[in-house]
Parts: sequence; structure tokens; C-alpha cells
Amino acid sequence: MKVRTFSPIFVIALVVSSFAVIWTPVGAEPSKAPIDLPIKAPLEVNVILAGFSSRDLGVTPAELEGLLSRLVRSEAVAYAGFFMEDPYVVALFDVELTVIEADARLNSEIRALFGRVSYDPAALPIDVRNSFVRYVSFVREYYGTTFAIRLNDRMTDIAALTLGLVSLTNRFLPQITDGYNIYLICGLPFTGNKFPVYFSAGQTVERGNGIGAVGMNLYGGIGTYRYVVLDICAIPNPFGNFAPKTEEDVEKYLPPALYRGPRDQIQAIAMYVDEIIDNLFVKSLIYVPRYQVTFLFDVVVIDMTTTGGGLQFIVSNFIPEIFESAMKWLMPYNFYTSRFHYRTIAEAAVMRQAISVHRGIQIIDVERAFTLAERTGLIPPAPSGVTRIPVLIFLSDADIYPSSPGTIGIAWPDLSDPRYPRGAVVGLNYRFVEREGLTLVTIHEAAHTLGLAHPHDDLDETDQEVIRPGKSKPQVKTRWVFSWAETAMSYADVPQVVNQRVIYPGAYPLRTYFSAFDLDAIDRAVVTLLLGYYLNYREEVMKKLKESGLRLEDIPEAEKLLREADKAAVNAVSLFRDHNYFDRFGFAGLGAQLETAFDYAWKALTDVIELYDNVEGARQAIESTRPLIRKLESEISDLRSTVESLKGRLDAATARAEQLQRSLSQEAQERQRIQQELELTKSDLTRARTELELTKNNLSAARSEVNTYLMLAAAGMVAAAGSAAFAIASRRGSRPRVLTSST
Ligand SMILES: [Zn+2]
Repeated sequence: MKVRTFSPIFVIALVVSSFAVIWTPVGAEPSKAPIDLPIKAPLEVNVILAGFSSRDLGVTPAELEGLLSRLVRSEAVAYAGFFMEDPYVVALFDVELTVIEADARLNSEIRALFGRVSYDPAALPIDVRNSFVRYVSFVREYYGTTFAIRLNDRMTDIAALTLGLVSLTNRFLPQITDGYNIYLICGLPFTGNKFPVYFSAGQTVERGNGIGAVGMNLYGGIGTYRYVVLDICAIPNPFGNFAPKTEEDVEKYLPPALYRGPRDQIQAIAMYVDEIIDNLFVKSLIYVPRYQVTFLFDVVVIDMTTTGGGLQFIVSNFIPEIFESAMKWLMPYNFYTSRFHYRTIAEAAVMRQAISVHRGIQIIDVERAFTLAERTGLIPPAPSGVTRIPVLIFLSDADIYPSSPGTIGIAWPDLSDPRYPRGAVVGLNYRFVEREGLTLVTIHEAAHTLGLAHPHDDLDETDQEVIRPGKSKPQVKTRWVFSWAETAMSYADVPQVVNQRVIYPGAYPLRTYFSAFDLDAIDRAVVTLLLGYYLNYREEVMKKLKESGLRLEDIPEAEKLLREADKAAVNAVSLFRDHNYFDRFGFAGLGAQLETAFDYAWKALTDVIELYDNVEGARQAIESTRPLIRKLESEISDLRSTVESLKGRLDAATARAEQLQRSLSQEAQERQRIQQELELTKSDLTRARTELELTKNNLSAARSEVNTYLMLAAAGMVAAAGSAAFAIASRRGSRPRVLTSST
């Protein structure tokens, strides 16, 4: 009975004590994250001299290396967020320049290559020939006839030259094949001392219209190869693309070889090298990219044309499938979907309110256009769970520009959160669409909304712009010469990318529409984003552990997960520092391979999310058991007090029993005494009875004596009176025996 009463308390006490072990506050500091953001990485840039040598500049290769290292920025910063007050720093690169002079064999191979990729203009497509005519007239006008007549009469395919230089590097300088390489060449010795003329040709994606550009001195961005070719002897043509065209632009980018002294020539070369690093190798992003979202592009064409245009025109000049595939290969780690809408201006008359006319030019008020389109349902409501980007395309018979004259398209910031875009607006004269199509323009604007900037625009950390007193930010620098980088983000007249595919050893060429530098910029930012999330989750895990008093070792798998996540983060940073950001060719799916910084950053994040879920689960389990524990605790406390009170009662009863015991034994003694007394009394009683009988007898005897006496007295009254008195008196004061004996 006693055991059964106490065993439940014992069990409960065990349960409570086992929880109490988990609840014990840890006290130890949470272990520190093994990485820091932003990532600091080396940027080894090889400058390969071909067609000339450092001696032509009056210095040794080592002296040239030293001079360039001093003149070129030593730290290059990749940012995201052109419109932010404090653009987000993606990574910091320590620039390490190496000057390599091509030896005689490499130089002669380059000369042979030059011959193979140079053509008689007559053999080139008409659009390229037309561009050549415009280039010659530019050179005549700005440099003079003597320069114009010294232009090479064969034109060199600069894309083919760059690819050829990549394979020559692989043969002659294999140690730098995968590096950031600038081929600093002077084409004069390869052209019989004529100014080299470079061209690039392509076709529109929709109808295969041939289009070409002529007159670049700089080119790069093909494939995963981070190569830029700069011909210091070629004359660049700022009028070969849409970038701002002023005489200052012409003066700023004179061919370095045309400067008078070697000092100025080296200075000019350094400016190019510095800007190649800032604009291409370490380029910034307009917007902070998003990771693993579903993008929904709502592309709305507003057809304002009366002469051209029409639905059939749009259908033959825009290929949605190519648009979607371009987005997918830009950021394969997100999901993409698009909706396409066509409205005539009669159906969308309200949009006229967003257009004003200045000197015959139509200008679109971009902010107003979005607001009107959203309000009137021209941009349909966005389903929940997607990141929707509206793209408004105004098609007109006349020139029409979003925001300002000369602008074809604009990726407009969300004014309430300038980290991200509100959408894109394109304004096109249908004649432009007829010539160049709509697909690439839409790809260009949509890629802006995902983050990409033009190759000719970049945030320049060495040139801070004061945005208000005491507050400055890196300035957006426009350098039109970089528009020649091969990407859909270029303003160049030619969408070179259309015919180009990304080349990677052993992999099937992939069409991305973007330069290696664009892809690097997006991938770097996404890897940094993932690592940022990893750090946030990790911090949350540590906070939760501390708050709930849990220890990692209390949760199965937790320590292992944290170790794995940390190891993956360290690997991600290390691969990032090797510029191994992401591999579009080897990518088999999220988590399907562990080869690049992206793969490891993704693993670090998913591991730490799993860890977070485990810790949160354990914390919630404790939270949900807490009321039960409290109830059990209060029951125990109740039972304890019951036991206490029972114990008190038992003690009291025992004391009382003892007392009773004591009084019982006293009583027994008393009884014995009484018994004895009783016995005594009994014998006394017997004796008394005997005496009583005796007395009775005596009395009776006496009575009869009295009777006798009376009878006698009746006979002789006086004589007997004396002796009777004597008899009574003696019975009172003396033993009856006297009387008896006297009887
Ligand atoms: Zn643009």
C-alpha cells in the first residue's frame, strides 16, 4: 500500500529531471562563423603584349609592369545597386598585374591568325560594308585624310581574332589560359603598317537580317574566357554604337599608340587597362539579384502604329521562346515564366497620358506609364508567389523614347525599394524593329531588371559622387568604348551574340547572349547572396540555441550539419577566390554537383536551413511540452504537500498511539491496582458480610433478648431496667462478643 502510493511521484520526478538536463543553460559562446563578407579575392590580370614590345615604350617588361601597377587601381570593387545610397558590396579584388611579352613564335602565329580572319570588304555582307563606309568617313572627319588613307583595306573579324588568341594562349601560355587576360596588341606589323580595321557581324534572331559593326579597338567577353583584346593602334569609332557621342569621347579614347611620348602612351594604356578591370572584369550590377524566385515577365506591347506594326508584325519580330531561354541561361538558379499581351493604342488609350511630345519627339513618362498600366489592368494582376516584372513596349511610327531622347529602353527602379526594379519600358520606332527585331531589345531590358548593367556603365569606386552634404557614393561612369564587349547588354549596333555561342572545353557550345563578364557579375552576386543568407541563418540558429537553452549536441545531426555547412561555406569562398563561380555547362540542378562556389554556397545555405529547422523543431517541442511540464510540476508539488500533510498526520497519529500506548500501560497498572484493591475490597466485603451476618445474628439475638427483656419487663419492670441499659451501652462501646458470651 505504501509503495503504490509513492511510485507515480517517482516516475514524474524522473521525467522532469530528464527535461531539466536539456534546459540547463549552456553559457558557452556560440562558435564564430568561419567566413566573412564581402569576400576579398585576388584578381590576377595578365597583360600580354603582341605586335609590339615594352622596348617600343622605352621600358623593360618589368618596368612596364611596375608602371602599370602604379597607375591602375589596386583594389577593384564589385557592387550591386546603382540606385541605392549605399550600393551593396559584392566583393573586393586585389589587382595583381603581370606583363607578358609574346615571343617571336607567338607573334608569328598571331600574324598568321590575323591573315586568316581578315577579309576583303567586298566579300562581306552589305551591312558590314555600309558600316565600313561610315567608319571611313568618321576617321576622315575626326582624324584627317592622312589617317583615312592609312586604314587597312582588309577588315579583321575581331570575334574570330579573340577566339584564335584564346587557343594560341592555350598552346603558348597554358598557365594563364583560364585567367583574366588582356591582349594588348598593335596590329600595324600584321597589316603592312596600316591602321587595322575591325568588324563584327551577326544576324537578327527573328528573320536572319545581317547586321554588322565596324571600327572597334576593343573586344571581349566570348564564352567563359575572360579575354579582352585591345589594339592600341586601331582607331575606335564612338559613332558605331548608341552610346553618347561627343568630341570629348573621341579625344578621351585616342589610340594609345598615337600619343607623343612613351610616358603618355603608357598613361593611355593604363587608363584602358584600369577601365577594362572596372567595367568588364569586376563589373557592378544595377540591381541586387534575387535567388530562387519565379520571375513572371508580363510583356505588354502597346501598338501606336498606323502605317506599320500590327499583330502579325509583332509575331514575326519577337520570339518569346528565345527570350525565355536567354533569361534561363542568365540565371539558371531561378525559374522563369512569361505572359505576352498585345494592345492597340485604341484599346489602351489611357497610355497616351504617359506620353508627351517635345520638338516632335515622343517621351514616355516611365513612372506614370507603370501606374496607368497597373491601374487600368493593362498589366494584369500578378499571381501571388511570383516576382513579377512588367515590360511595357511602345511601338510607334515615329521616334519614341522612355524618359529621355535617345534611350531605347529603361529598367526603372522601384522608388520605394531601389534595390529592385519596378519594371522595364521600351520605346521603338517600328522601323528599328523591322531591322533589328524586338527579341534582343526585350532580352536586354529584362536582363537589366535581373541586375545586369551595360558593359559601358559601371559604378566606379575611385570616383565618389556627393549625393548630399557629408554623403557620397561611387559614381556611375559611362565609357562608351566598352560597348564593344560581346553581350546583349551592349549598345553596339550589332548583336554579335546572336551568332556566337559560349565555348568551353569538352562542352557543347551554349548560347547565352551575355558576356563572360556579365555571367561573372551575376554569379558573384548570387554566391555572395547565398553566403549572406547562410550567415543570417547561422546567426539565427545560434540565437535560438541561446534563447531556448539548447545545446547543439542535444539535437541529433545538429553538430554534423553545422560542421558541413561551415565547411561548404569555406569551400565556396575558396572557389570564389579562384574565380570558379558557377558552371552553366556542368550544372545538373541545385545540389546535384559540388564543383563551384555556387554549388558550395548552395550547400552551406541548405545545410544551415536544415539545421535551423532542427533547432526550431526542438525549440518548439520544448515550448509545446512546457505547459505539460508545468502541469506535472504543479501536480508534484500538490502531491508533495499531500505527502507532507499525510506524513504530519501519521506523525500525529503515531504520537497519539504512543501516548495511548503509554496511557494504556498506565491503565493496566491502574487496573491491576484496582484489581488488587478490588480483591482486598472483596475480602473486606466478605468479612463485612460475615460481620454483617454476625451482626445481623447478634442483632437478631439482641432483638430476641430485647423481646425477652421486654416480656420480662412487663413482668418485673424496675429490676430489669438497670441491666438492659447496661447491655445496650456495652454493645455500643465494646465487642459484641461480650454480649454473645453473655448470651
Ligand atoms: Zn540598357
